[in-house]
Amino acid sequence: MKVRVGVNGFGTIGKRVADAVARQPDMELIGVAKTRPGFEARRAVERGYPIYIAGGGSPEKFAAAGLPVAGRLADLLGKVDVVVDATPEDVGRENRALYQAAGIRAVFQGGKEPDVAEASFNALANYETGRGKRSLRVVSCNTTGLARAAAVLLPRWGVARWDVTLVRRAADPGESKRGPVDGIMPTMEMPSHHGPDVRTIYPDLPIATAAVVVPTTLMHVHVNHVRLAHPPSGTAELLGAFRSTPRFHVFAGWEGVDGTPQVMEFARDRAGHGNRSTSDMPENVLWERGARLDGSDAYFFQAIHQESVVVPENIDAIRAMFDLAKDKDASIALTDRTLGIAPG
Ligand code: NAD
Repeated sequence: MKVRVGVNGFGTIGKRVADAVARQPDMELIGVAKTRPGFEARRAVERGYPIYIAGGGSPEKFAAAGLPVAGRLADLLGKVDVVVDATPEDVGRENRALYQAAGIRAVFQGGKEPDVAEASFNALANYETGRGKRSLRVVSCNTTGLARAAAVLLPRWGVARWDVTLVRRAADPGESKRGPVDGIMPTMEMPSHHGPDVRTIYPDLPIATAAVVVPTTLMHVHVNHVRLAHPPSGTAELLGAFRSTPRFHVFAGWEGVDGTPQVMEFARDRAGHGNRSTSDMPENVLWERGARLDGSDAYFFQAIHQESVVVPENIDAIRAMFDLAKDKDASIALTDRTLGIAPG
């Protein structure tokens, strides 16, 4: 029996999660909920995803656009076992009561406050915590990137102290109303909220984060300095651990990948190869040249594709909630195989 899934909010994250759900052998995408017609609604129709109207949207507007609708959000909620809420940050919290009233489970996105769900979730870091839960929060893109890195470092070498500067993208590529279009904007809150957010998964992790926003849409970049409690033998061992972990991609020096433009060009080149249908880069990206071990101090850059990094995590969150896989490795392997993400 397949788990029946609905996606509420069909924007940057929602449309990607819907596509990913549609590829899972143990899940069925029942429909997606949208407030307004638009190019993304047209795409849903073209892909055969039934559209349900959410948030006071008007059926007349969908009819005028020639887009068929299958009902209202309440109808969708009546047909699914779980909803992935990918609405804007403040809407998800309001929606929580709807999901509870419908008696269904819910996966929320990390922009929300942690208490929107029973637990915060990252597949590599705390898959077991998600088992059987009625609601989970897949942590934000930056927190997902940090939690994955912590899942590599902590069990092997322990972390005595971790300082991260997050260089954050200003907007997603499809957004034209956000900025800055020039300048570097420090996030004055210090430490930034990302450190505490990682601690919703690793409560004792001694991590401190600071952030600046820069005028780019491609990816975030994290500048990491980690003091390891029991360091590995050298940089090669450090890099080997990242290389052998799922959802990490390490570029070799000879590949000539100097920064995020080449990373995303690589992702575009890879689209359509094997199961990889998108030009996304859901892996944490590291550079061989951009990692170094100096005594107990590990330094490494990692780039995070904000639009896609959380997509496989949403799939694993559903699998954990419904106990569909024997363990995290089995869930991650199935998700990654269906999405064309190469094993670590
Ligand atoms: P988005 O604006 O691209 O998409 C949100 C969609 O929800 C839009 O299509 C919007 O029309 C729709 N919507 C608005 N009100 C609604 C309602 N009441 N009911 C149903 N749909 C409604 O936003 P996004 O970037 O996809 O972000 C969604 C969530 O994912 C947010 O919580 C965000 O913090 C989180 N997130 C975003 C990113 C990112 O980089 N874009 C990364 C990780 C997590």
